[in-house]
Amino acid sequence: SNFYDQTAATPDSPFDVALRPPDFSEFAGQERVKERLMLMVEAARQRGETLTHVLLCGPPGLGKTTLAHILATAMGSKLHSASGPQIERAGDLAGILTNLQERDILFIDEIHRLHPSIEEYLYPAMEDFRLDIIIDQGPKARTIRLDLPPFTLVGATTRAGMLTAPMRGRFGIPNRLDYYTVDELKGILMRSAGLMQVDMRPEGAAEVARRSRGTPRVANHLLRWVRDYAQVRAQNIITGEVGAAALTMLDIDEDGLDEMDKRILDAIINKFNGGPVGLNSVAVAVHEDASTLEDVHEPYLVMQGYVKRTPRGRVAMPAAYKKLGLPVPITSRD
Ligand code: ATP
Repeated sequence: SNFYDQTAATPDSPFDVALRPPDFSEFAGQERVKERLMLMVEAARQRGETLTHVLLCGPPGLGKTTLAHILATAMGSKLHSASGPQIERAGDLAGILTNLQERDILFIDEIHRLHPSIEEYLYPAMEDFRLDIIIDQGPKARTIRLDLPPFTLVGATTRAGMLTAPMRGRFGIPNRLDYYTVDELKGILMRSAGLMQVDMRPEGAAEVARRSRGTPRVANHLLRWVRDYAQVRAQNIITGEVGAAALTMLDIDEDGLDEMDKRILDAIINKFNGGPVGLNSVAVAVHEDASTLEDVHEPYLVMQGYVKRTPRGRVAMPAAYKKLGLPVPITSRD
């Protein structure tokens, strides 16, 4: 196994893979993005051409990897997966690119974490399907040019803002994935329950959906837990009550906040006086990796109105005080 084979590149669990919708028709939500991608595929197919490069942005677990697979299937082409930080040397990239067949899709996850020197090599590959590599050193150094088959780069990033301008410019319009609505998550959960052959009632799905932080991957993982709970405690039937009881046991509250979310709110309020406080200070206070805070926890807390990002740092909003059962200070009332 090498650094760009699918299993090594993306830590997709077999469980994620089994529940992955195989085509656009089973992919719930993200209507605007889906419509755009379907149109691009149709146009490319009509012209018998390679699909143009695609950039997918959004928090983890919203379906970027899934969409890359769907695009490959829709184009009838093969998907190759890699992840930005794994491509360390130009030779790594050359190995990947020279393995591609015409119209193949190269999926690069975390593309914002590509090494700048690797990015330089990628530009001509994206634009003109060529790769100029320098071999040897000193006076004997020379460039050799490799022609590549036309391929499609599908880049995924959790931080569109961290993508370099030249890289952004080489993709068309970025496709931003949003958090899913509770209804959409309910639909995803009912589909997953069907595939897993568990008896889940719509009210059960609603309970899980409400606590899934707008994220299909979270929804599917909670479903797995709820299934275990129902098997041991509730004759294998996931009703609304069973779903709620199972998730309470995981310390996930009715708004989908988990222990870490609450520790973050608690730190901002009690250790940093409500903020503003820098993300790194919060990370240290809650013993969590700053990038996990920024990618996973913060976007959800911001979207739900618990935290505000300001130029001077993160600030706790009245909802955060209420969540922790604390009086809302006068200064943070709007
Ligand atoms: P990461 O950025 O961490 O790779 P991701 O955004 O690529 O995450 P996926 O791996 O594509 O996320 O999706 C996670 C899980 O959620 C998969 O198991 C997939 O089945 C499910 N999923 C994602 N989006 C949808 C959707 N729109 N409809 C149904 N299931 C979905």
